[in-house]
Amino acid sequence: MSRFVYADNAATTRLSETALSAMLPWLQEGFGNPSSVYRLGRAARRALDEARETVAAAIGAKPDEIFFTGSGTEADNWAIRGVAEILGQKGRHIITTAIEHHAVDHTVKDLEKHGFDVTYLPVDEYGHISLDDLRATIRSDTILITVMFANNEIGTIYPIREIGAIARENGILFHTDAVQAVGHIPVDVTAMEIDLMSLSAHKFRGPKGIGALYVRKGVRLPSFITGGAQERGKRSGTENVAGICGMAAALEESVQTLAASSAKIEALRDKLIAGLLQIPRTQLTGDPVNRLPGSASFVFECVEGEAMILLLDAAGIAASSGSACSSGSLDPSHVLLAIGLPHEIAHGSVRLSLGEENTEADVDYILETLPNIVEKLRAMSPLWEEA
Ligand SMILES: *Cc1c(COP(=O)(O)O)cnc(C)c1O
Repeated sequence: MSRFVYADNAATTRLSETALSAMLPWLQEGFGNPSSVYRLGRAARRALDEARETVAAAIGAKPDEIFFTGSGTEADNWAIRGVAEILGQKGRHIITTAIEHHAVDHTVKDLEKHGFDVTYLPVDEYGHISLDDLRATIRSDTILITVMFANNEIGTIYPIREIGAIARENGILFHTDAVQAVGHIPVDVTAMEIDLMSLSAHKFRGPKGIGALYVRKGVRLPSFITGGAQERGKRSGTENVAGICGMAAALEESVQTLAASSAKIEALRDKLIAGLLQIPRTQLTGDPVNRLPGSASFVFECVEGEAMILLLDAAGIAASSGSACSSGSLDPSHVLLAIGLPHEIAHGSVRLSLGEENTEADVDYILETLPNIVEKLRAMSPLWEEA
């Protein structure tokens, strides 16, 4: 019983061999500071320049539109706080959704404390916003629309191109948190009329602690970290050369293999979804069709998500729940509540997120194991007896 199935790729992914190989030289003999003028430094600088070109090409941007950050969270903070700082005199209204990642949600909530007015667009049962709602919410003092590309909890993919067009027509900046999308589904900042976009390496088999913000040429953003003028003076601090090279290599590989790997992962996901929906009183959460290739998220009635995660862990399966008591609150996630699930049902959420390394045997093992865990927990639940 030493089986281990990693099914939490939306939380993080295993570093790819390609990314590791791209990183090692810069952790070993190529340790120079990219700002140094001697050969060792110049080599690191060249590696950074190449990585910037690779990242830009992967998302349809130009190299000077890419700024490296320490995480996806940092990129979200910079985009949103930066626009608020630059345009705060012009207007103080920001439009977002009820289902953003905390990196966006907690950032706009912080801005509310500083006099910004935030509209949280409601979502339907699949987690979709209405584009008519979005249009109707735009005001003369709206300075930013921030809508995620794809949802980390329920897998729903948003109509980013349409949202980008609405923002552009109205002369409003558009930021998207694309951390779950980049490397997994096609992303093109130019075609999609995106002004600002956040990404993070560890969600596409790059290393942790490195991300990027795309800033469309012509969009003014203040410096986020002052200091030694790295990242063209906008984000100071000696560059994480190995991390940046690892991110670029992982992204290039993900984008090159995207069509084949997403087809493979989708087939596994669909088998998993079909199998788990055989369990009585079980619902898929998120859009059944327009969803991330690896995302399979559910609610099981009369089951505690946290208890499921612990029993799955005991059986060698790593998954997560959107109803984490461990997050310090007994409330289910804001996403599950926003899609209209009652508290008691939202408590039974489990997210399984597959990646390139998963196999059909993994899915079969989950299908053999998980239904028994649900049954066991329901057998102990007084609610189940009533139901
Ligand atoms: C993981 C994630 C983030 C945060 O990225 P980090 O690099 O871990 O800070 C932000 N948004 C979404 C949608 C995510 O899934």
